[in-house]
Amino acid sequence: AKGRGRNCAEFYTHKMGVDAERHMALETAMRTALDNGEFELDYQPKVALRGGQVFGMEALLRWRRPGLGVVSPAEFIPLAEETGAIVAIGEWVLRTACRQLRHWHDMGHTQLTMAVNLSPRQFVRQDVPALIRATLADSGLPAKALELELTESILMSDGTGVRDALLQLKAIGVTLALDDFGTGYSSLSYLKRFPIDVLKIDRSFIQDLAADAEDASLTRTIVLMAQSLHMKTVAEGVETLAQLSFLRRCKCDAIQGYFFSKPLNADAMTSLLRDRRCL
Ligand code: C2E
Ligand code: CA
Ligand code: CA
Ligand code: CA
Repeated sequence: AKGRGRNCAEFYTHKMGVDAERHMALETAMRTALDNGEFELDYQPKVALRGGQVFGMEALLRWRRPGLGVVSPAEFIPLAEETGAIVAIGEWVLRTACRQLRHWHDMGHTQLTMAVNLSPRQFVRQDVPALIRATLADSGLPAKALELELTESILMSDGTGVRDALLQLKAIGVTLALDDFGTGYSSLSYLKRFPIDVLKIDRSFIQDLAADAEDASLTRTIVLMAQSLHMKTVAEGVETLAQLSFLRRCKCDAIQGYFFSKPLNADAMTSLLRDRRCL
């Protein structure tokens, strides 16, 4: 949508046709993918800047298509939202992530937390608090082990329904994080209206921290604001030591990103936990 000029019109029409074909193919494939076990989860560690320990992780969905490689979630999640497939897929993600975390708890990593991404459509189409209660019961995990990552679009999608669901989730005891913080339209008013515990500072602020004084200043301000509102901060997409050092100085609570680790499959995560790797 950004920067599409007059000269791009013809090209765009052609591209739309190609996209539509690809979308239709993916849509058909998605119907069977869940039953065929083509979805997997990777897990990316979150590391505390005080102490340097891995305290939790985020589950990230992967679709491995036989013979075709891995489709990016950035491509298929919007489509799964359109078709409604995200409801069944989202339930699978929650169940799988929680069972996996239970396994790690049983190995002795009892303080570890798991964050799962939720789509707006899940709130529209189902009773998310009931789903969370059922998933926690199925896995035998304490509610405090589960964190839900919400986007501003969820908070925007409707007033009372979502707010009510989030208050119920709060009462259950799960942690609520606001994803991609800083990229939306009116983030500040949401912080007042919704019971958010954690701000995930978007990667676009982190990227240029070393070079861009404005990004540095905004990041520092987000951390200070979160502190005064008794919220925690996690910086997303941390790739360099310079970024890490800056975030340490401004007392951000935690980092996630390639600097420490890319998203890992369950076996690789098990090794990382067993080795007690830290920053
Ligand atoms: P997100 O929630 O903002 O997840 C973070 C994305 O940044 C992930 O991309 C992750 O692999 C990537 N990332 C992490 N560290 C770095 C870094 O240091 N540098 C760079 N360049 N990238 C980094 P991924 O796995 O491709 O996921 C893309 C998006 O798809 C996610 O963005 C999330 O919005 C969505 N998504 C993924 N899994 C799920 C899911 O289970 N349910 C829903 N509803 N959405 C999901
Ligand atoms: Ca996320
Ligand atoms: Ca994010
Ligand atoms: Ca900038």
